[in-house]
Amino acid sequence: MENVIILGTGCAGLTAAIYAARANLEPLVIEGSQPGGQLTTTSEVENFPGFPEGIDGFLLMDNLRKQAKRFGARFESDVIESVDFSGPVKKLKGAKNYEAKTVIVATGARPRLLDIPGEKEMYGGKGVTTCATCDGAFYRGMDVVVVGGGDSATEEALFLTRFASKVYLLHRRDELRASKIMADRAIEHEKIDIQWSTIPEEVLADDQGMMRAVRVQDAKTGQTREIEAKGFFIAIGHIPNTAFLGGALKTDDEGYLVSDHESGVHTGIEGVYVAGDCADHVYRQAITAAGMGCRASIEAERWLAEHEGLFAATATA
Ligand code: NAP
Repeated sequence: MENVIILGTGCAGLTAAIYAARANLEPLVIEGSQPGGQLTTTSEVENFPGFPEGIDGFLLMDNLRKQAKRFGARFESDVIESVDFSGPVKKLKGAKNYEAKTVIVATGARPRLLDIPGEKEMYGGKGVTTCATCDGAFYRGMDVVVVGGGDSATEEALFLTRFASKVYLLHRRDELRASKIMADRAIEHEKIDIQWSTIPEEVLADDQGMMRAVRVQDAKTGQTREIEAKGFFIAIGHIPNTAFLGGALKTDDEGYLVSDHESGVHTGIEGVYVAGDCADHVYRQAITAAGMGCRASIEAERWLAEHEGLFAATATA
């Protein structure tokens, strides 16, 4: 039986792995379908402390992985499909079966995409992105497009005004979903041009394969036209990777894991902790995920120290 199984190898999972490994718990880290998590799709990370020149997202995650390995973390490539947290021994089922005393769920979230032509082709470095905080500074002096009408889209549009010469905010309806304060700020901002009832249909490339424009349709008249821009920021919500838990842990209506404790990482189940974007729809930053991974690991370590007897009893029963 493992002391601790960590699900996920994004910033949250790998930071939890570093802490658990340094505490001599020999954690088993299960990599899942996107090793390294969301940062591996970002070309350059400029806001992770400690890298004054910025760092390639893939390299950062590789460094975290090496750091965890150096202290004894073990890695397994598997996708967990179901869990049983009903007893003291936590059971997980993927291609293999696993048993653990504690589990840290750090499975992240994936940005919701539009599924339109050009989106995948220009994703990551060619104009299409899902993170203004990560990529906004690359669009200094250019026109960009943000898609969505919620708090994320308005926040991203406002953030992008620091760099872009003009921000087109495309929303499919004629009223923003965002909170009034955010909506008012976006509507009033001189650099933000809200394109109401506008649906993106295709991201168009120049002859270098870089974004040059987006073709949109007017939701009311059906007419199409092009908006020229170099950046296409999709902010239509995220999908937390929690469905595999099958309701074993408490979630909110959107599927984000909910903590019942001031630490923010305890679940309602003893010995099971959460960290990172699967439990955070507000900050969603690499550094906040890393912080949660650290907290989850320390809580797991403390819980194990206090409950050693529980597993000795289980082993002899
Ligand atoms: P959201 O509130 O679900 O908004 C998603 C937006 O994307 C909606 O305006 C929606 O349009 C639009 N959309 C969805 N699918 C679309 C599609 N296929 N094509 C075009 N548009 C599409 O998501 P969010 O903005 O990421 O916010 C999620 C949660 O986090 C919210 O509770 C929000 O308040 C919170 N949040 C808080 C902060 C903050 O407090 N600073 C910042 C960010 C997020 P419709 O309006 O027509 O449905």
